[in-house]
Amino acid sequence: MSPADPNPRAERFSRLKGTHDILPAQVPAWRHLEKTVADVMSRSGYHEIRTPIFERTELFSRGVGAQTDLVGKEMYTFEDQGGKSLTLRPELTASIVRAYLQHNLDRDSPLSRLYYLGPLFRQERPQKGRQRQFHQFGLEALGSPHPEQDVEVISIAWELCRALAGGELTMRINTIGSPGSRAGYLDLLRQSLEPFKAGMGENDARRLATNPLRLFDTKDPQMRALLQEHAPKISEHVSAADSDHYAAVQAGLDTLDIPFASDPTLVRGLDYYTRTTFEITSPVLGAQDALCGGGRYDGLVAQLGGPSTPAVGFAAGIERLLLAATESGHEPAPAETPDVYMAATGDDLIPQATALTHELRKGGLSVVQEVMRRSLKAQLREANRLGCRFAVIMGDTAGANKGMAVVKNMTSGEQTELPLDEIVAEIRSSLG
Ligand code: AMP
Repeated sequence: MSPADPNPRAERFSRLKGTHDILPAQVPAWRHLEKTVADVMSRSGYHEIRTPIFERTELFSRGVGAQTDLVGKEMYTFEDQGGKSLTLRPELTASIVRAYLQHNLDRDSPLSRLYYLGPLFRQERPQKGRQRQFHQFGLEALGSPHPEQDVEVISIAWELCRALAGGELTMRINTIGSPGSRAGYLDLLRQSLEPFKAGMGENDARRLATNPLRLFDTKDPQMRALLQEHAPKISEHVSAADSDHYAAVQAGLDTLDIPFASDPTLVRGLDYYTRTTFEITSPVLGAQDALCGGGRYDGLVAQLGGPSTPAVGFAAGIERLLLAATESGHEPAPAETPDVYMAATGDDLIPQATALTHELRKGGLSVVQEVMRRSLKAQLREANRLGCRFAVIMGDTAGANKGMAVVKNMTSGEQTELPLDEIVAEIRSSLG
């Protein structure tokens, strides 16, 4: 329920701003997404990893970068009873690299292909497509420096976003070089923009000094125009090896017929990216149009205390993918309906109905049992409302004593009296 539509019954304990309940009607779409992610990931050789919701604050300040907005302003940080600073995870890459090092996954194999799905927490200003608790899935491929690994990661992101969001999507890619070549570029960028500093807002002026790449994240049209006109293009200032890598990634995407636009302003906000960056957006989402972002981060494992390890990954926003699917009329996941409504016409038949419910479930059917002691008419109305394909009716004591019950096909209305031990097979064969 939106704040514009307050429900007086929830006044005292309404959900917090920026958080959402995922209601039963929405869960089938989530399950469908989760299953699609698991299928595509495992077909591509990726294994799921699950890490804790909270970590030491330092993991994120070192791993993500103290100068980023994410660490500077958006983290939910608190002290535990021992005075240790903890943070609800604002992203997952740092946590996964921590787990990768802690469990020596690099010693099992030179390459680890990992994926994840779960909630994240960022104290941002809530708006459409932007929440304080939201969910991502993503992957991290740790171990290969080669462009075919970037192509694999980007192609999985593209396949999943297309399958889940539907509609026309756009992919932009760029290279931001490696730290060696980037230092020179950052100087050049500062020099080129210094003359315009006075006209910048306080935030941007600060970024110019501390983290000038972040200037490219701006949504301010004036700032965008300034960057377009006066900022040198990072892809033109990277080393020859970085350029070769970038060319090979683009050639790989061409081979797979994955459409992309090369965008020299695509510079992701987190400090640990090197070389490839990419982002997938949907035009149906409005201001918060990014579905998925990722790139290469060859420096992060070493930054967190491990051996130098090349890596590339992406993260996709689940709420935004579901929103994009709805907005573009992408076919929703089929509703989950029970196979059978277990009805009983009298209180004395309830024990038999309960026993039969148990048997039908053991036989693999999904069964909803009447527990309100309503009239048979009301029970059948409920079976219809729930979309049950069959109702099984414990109709009378004589029938129950003979070990019989009535099976009613809710679509055709046809009714048959059957021995209890034949009901599972009969319904299963009708369900196909
Ligand atoms: P990031 O981790 O910032 O690269 O974000 C990756 C993806 O997560 C974005 O493309 C969005 O789809 C999603 N996302 C990021 N922040 C939020 C948020 N506050 N609320 C909902 N989705 C988000």
